[in-house]
Amino acid sequence: MSILRVALDVPLATLFDYLDGGRHAEVGSRVLVPFGRRQIAGIVLEKPEQSQMAQERLKPVLAVFDGEPTLSVETMRLARFCAEYYHYPVGQAVMSVLPGRLRDVKPALPEIQIGYRLTDSGRHVGIDALPKQALLQRKLWLALAQAEALDQAALAQLAAGWRGAFKVLRAKGWVEAVQLDAPLPPPVPFQPVPPPTLNADQQAAVDAIGAQLDGFGVWLLYGITGSGKTEVYMRLLQAALQQQNAQVLVLVPEINLTPQLEGRFRARFPGETIVALHSQMSDGERLRNWRLAESGRARIVIGTRLSVFTPIPHLKLIVVDEEHDASYKQQDGMRYSARDVAVMRAKQAGIPVVLGSATPALETWHNAQAGRYRLLTLTQRAVAQAQLPDIVCLDAKTPLLRDGLTPALINALRERLERGEQSLLFINRRGYSPVLLCSACAWVAPCHRCSSRLVVHLRQRRLKCHHCGHEERMPLQCPSCGNPDLHPAGQGTQRLEATLAELFPEARILRVDRDSTRRKGALEGMMTEVHGQRVDILVGTQMLAKGHDFPNLTLVGVVDTDSALFSPDFRAAERLFAQLMQVAGRAGRADKPGQVLIQTAFPDHALFHALRRHDYAEFAATLLNERQMAGFPPYCFQALLHAEANHFEPVRDFLNDAVDQAHNFAHSVTVYDPVRPALARLKGMERAHLLIQAESRAALQGFLQSWVPLLAKHKLAGKLRWSVEVDPLEV
Ligand code: ADP
Ligand code: ZN
Ligand code: ZN
Repeated sequence: MSILRVALDVPLATLFDYLDGGRHAEVGSRVLVPFGRRQIAGIVLEKPEQSQMAQERLKPVLAVFDGEPTLSVETMRLARFCAEYYHYPVGQAVMSVLPGRLRDVKPALPEIQIGYRLTDSGRHVGIDALPKQALLQRKLWLALAQAEALDQAALAQLAAGWRGAFKVLRAKGWVEAVQLDAPLPPPVPFQPVPPPTLNADQQAAVDAIGAQLDGFGVWLLYGITGSGKTEVYMRLLQAALQQQNAQVLVLVPEINLTPQLEGRFRARFPGETIVALHSQMSDGERLRNWRLAESGRARIVIGTRLSVFTPIPHLKLIVVDEEHDASYKQQDGMRYSARDVAVMRAKQAGIPVVLGSATPALETWHNAQAGRYRLLTLTQRAVAQAQLPDIVCLDAKTPLLRDGLTPALINALRERLERGEQSLLFINRRGYSPVLLCSACAWVAPCHRCSSRLVVHLRQRRLKCHHCGHEERMPLQCPSCGNPDLHPAGQGTQRLEATLAELFPEARILRVDRDSTRRKGALEGMMTEVHGQRVDILVGTQMLAKGHDFPNLTLVGVVDTDSALFSPDFRAAERLFAQLMQVAGRAGRADKPGQVLIQTAFPDHALFHALRRHDYAEFAATLLNERQMAGFPPYCFQALLHAEANHFEPVRDFLNDAVDQAHNFAHSVTVYDPVRPALARLKGMERAHLLIQAESRAALQGFLQSWVPLLAKHKLAGKLRWSVEVDPLEV
């Protein structure tokens, strides 16, 4: 009897053998299996000749979910590779790449897939065969007679109690089920946009990559915002799609950016089926798009990080836009970097991958400098008149600050208002103010579940933890000393909005942050307002920094950056530079020159020197130099072991033992002592981690291969949450 080796969503680094039991499961089939007392879904990864277990101990699978797509060999291979590289249980790695519906223990075919129609006999007997008083039956019959087939949703719309009447018709053999084809998204009406003539840089990039579409290669497309990277992607997609049946995958960092890009792609490729994949879709929608990709029907797949695992049988090209963006990093479960997985995937598939950015991640830049990735540079803005904005630092040490705004910034805002131009004020903190402070005893409102402070949301008179979501009413007096004089201290988007409303009562101000855009479609609505010139001043967080193009925006003000300049995190400066370049890119995109004013107490910092000259390469060289001297990535390779529990003792004991075990065979890596992260308590969990550092990837991987299985066997391993993170971004 044949044996099935199955991936299951359980935290053990192994696969599980079952008997086929005559059900004819294939490699890649989804099956239902008994596991302990439960029944769970899994994927058949192999059909081995024999099992390590005695045949009589193997149990048969309970069901094979027939009619569902099987997981492709390539996708399984990619997931298994990631399980090894990220030291994550193989079954969980495979299961985590599936859309939610395919992890359920029931058939995943969405209801919409099944339709009903009259059988020949049902049509033949005619409506008069139905009793006169059976109104519902007659109604269903009529509707079915008029349609080719109807799905459950359509039937339910006819009458809430349709099921009873439907059963009668079905029992008589007058109705049958049919499988409907997955409906495609409706075509979008469009005005075909003639593609622009490429400039020399763009043409060189398209030629270079276009000449090597038939093999693996990593290309870094480096060019400031507006230099025409997206135009280059589109030409490459077009070239790749000329191959028969070819499909392409485009990764974007933010859900908010998918509709925009989708719109541009639809206008350029009106005949192609384009699908998006991201986590804010309903399970049904996501499964449908996943299947469109998997069946080869969708030729362009756009998605956020999770879509890097989408099965795409004829994949010919991968594009990773804004490759430096931190949202490509998955921060729980399997902690992968979608950019790095995209590179691995391209290598497995033997196809090119294009990484695009104005401010590449230092790791990527380093790879390009070393010749492992091929660098292509777009040196200027694509639209001839669009000049680079002028970047100026404003000394924030001046005593004339009004609620955090310097007089120079206020004047600049006034000028824009008078000229009818738009401004954007950037501050990376939502809420009214980051702390609530007692003026008498210096008490600050803490979160009881996290080692963090509660953020003041003044209009709702509530305090909120931005780490765990905890909320409470603002106290009327200090819980510590009884003083009623409690101050919101520091700036957030809401406070800035209020200050501006006082300064410029006539201005139309719009705040864009996670709070104001929670509703579905809210952000798009706001962007329409901005484009329609119904907004004078935009106040917002980094949500505004990405991708949006505002032709009439001529001023960008950056209110508060300095905390990032001296962060203990060695990547903070790199991230700040990328963020400021990106917000600066919002100014002066069309024919009006833009200005960027940055308030800082440290205008002489190297970061601002490079920023004023729009010189990423200069700053990258400085940073790489520092990293090399300090022995930080990309000049070394790191992994973290995270642990957390309700109490600190098991965390401490587990990590201390992990250090001891590591020392037994840590010849080629450095093992650091456990430390507590800045957020030592999160959601009521006590946290700590320890850092492993190696001079080569191979040394790090070799060490982890011996060490991680020992951790899994530790007596505390089942009593706390622990995880390994390879290539962490926050150390
Ligand atoms: P990026 O992706 O680098 O930010 P885009 O590709 O979005 O840049 O280009 C910025 C703007 O310039 C877009 O409005 C685009 O249509 C336009 N554009 C791009 N390439 C050209 C070109 N060769 N000639 C004229 N306009 C161009
Ligand atoms: Zn007090
Ligand atoms: Zn909290």
